[in-house]
Amino acid sequence: MGLRFYNTLTQQVEAFAPLHDNVVRMYTCGPTVYNYVHIGNLRAFTFQDILRRVLRARGYKLDHVMNITDIEDKIIRDAAAAHKSIFDFTKVYTDAFLEDTAALRLEGPERLVKATDHIHDMVTAIKRLEQRGYTYESDGSVYYRIANFPSYGQLSHNDFSGIRAGARVDVDEYDKADARDFVLWKAQKDGEPAWDEGIGMGRPGWHIECSVMAMKYLGETLDIHTGGVDLTFPHHENEIAQSEALTGKQFVRYWLHSEHLSVDGQKMSKSLGNFYTLRDLIGMGNTPEAVRYLLASVPYRKKLNFTFDGIKAATTAIERLRNYRLRMETAVFGEGLNPALEDRAAAAVKSFDEALDDDLNTAEALAAAFEYIRDTNTAMDSGEFRAGNTGAAQDFLTRFDSIFDVLNPSVKSGGLSDAEVDALLSERKAAKAARNFKRADEVRAQLAEQGIVIEDTKDGVRWKRQ
Ligand code: AMP
Ligand code: ZN
Repeated sequence: MGLRFYNTLTQQVEAFAPLHDNVVRMYTCGPTVYNYVHIGNLRAFTFQDILRRVLRARGYKLDHVMNITDIEDKIIRDAAAAHKSIFDFTKVYTDAFLEDTAALRLEGPERLVKATDHIHDMVTAIKRLEQRGYTYESDGSVYYRIANFPSYGQLSHNDFSGIRAGARVDVDEYDKADARDFVLWKAQKDGEPAWDEGIGMGRPGWHIECSVMAMKYLGETLDIHTGGVDLTFPHHENEIAQSEALTGKQFVRYWLHSEHLSVDGQKMSKSLGNFYTLRDLIGMGNTPEAVRYLLASVPYRKKLNFTFDGIKAATTAIERLRNYRLRMETAVFGEGLNPALEDRAAAAVKSFDEALDDDLNTAEALAAAFEYIRDTNTAMDSGEFRAGNTGAAQDFLTRFDSIFDVLNPSVKSGGLSDAEVDALLSERKAAKAARNFKRADEVRAQLAEQGIVIEDTKDGVRWKRQ
């Protein structure tokens, strides 16, 4: 039946195909970098990683943009409390986010973009919205007039036609019951960071960020837009209102939203204080792979209730997988090939792929893998599994791990602290600046030996523990 997704916009499961060629243009709302992300946030990003991997496994190329929200009410509040500039403050949590996502083996998007690098583009968009009659000004701030966009509510499936025209809201997050004209440009308040772009000193609202960065890199119509369910309203509804008012074209073809991770039945959130970070869980002796497995194992549209038993079960499942692989690599099997087991492997591949095609049903995909492993183990016990069957069995594991990516243990990094890694990276940078490439390469090799992988990006060097 092919790959299909549940689309929040149409409330239907739909066959997926990109608009142009073989390239999937996709946008993900990234983190607001004012703290360490918790594993609830990481669930949303793990879903996006599984989505990326399945799309690639089906032969698509990706152009995936993720933003970093580095200007926002909570950032301003907490940076001021820490006596830091918003740039110094957000850098710490942006780096931490990249470390956490690397530890979870989440593939980086093709483009990771920061809101503060796009203020000029946002103001241009706001001016165009103004020309088209979608905005009004009040006390130096600019608002979007939702009464002028009749299909407002199409994503969250709410009828907002009766709302009071002209009532407005300055905060970025609010309930459906509170739908009002939202802010595009916030006038500067005392001591707040602000930009002078010809529409009064101020800063952009959160919603305009994503519309502008998405369309700048991906064009007027995106194939896929993802985020957690809490972003459906108002954030994504507002993104549609802004983008479609600007272009007159459909903004996003498939909207995919991941459900929450909860603790004791409540959404895990920073404000409730009921959260664990990846660092917390690793500090308690869990591996990043176990966290990855746990987050990926529940289909993204189902709620995931976090428990320590759940992490333990994930650890045990990974051990079973690794033991199975070890057995296959080291046991001596009888000569020949058992055709029945080749058929069994083909059936496992089919079930695995079909489960993922079915709106990324990871639970079914895992079930297919474990049933196959059980059957193969039984065949190994009885001697029916032959040397000639290892190829297909290994291919299945490779296919499995290209999506779930838990088979290889994380290498311990030989005790190098983050500060030591940073010091070596500074040395490498200095060596490169002095055109001492030999020394720069030596440092890279030294880090690699310690399990540290470095990546030169246009935003500087990124590193991760393998
Ligand atoms: P934020 O940094 O708050 O904008 O959140 C980043 C991403 O994490 C968004 O896609 C949110 O929808 C998602 N998110 C926040 N809390 C949870 C949670 N408890 N479970 C799953 N996803 C979450
Ligand atoms: Zn967004």
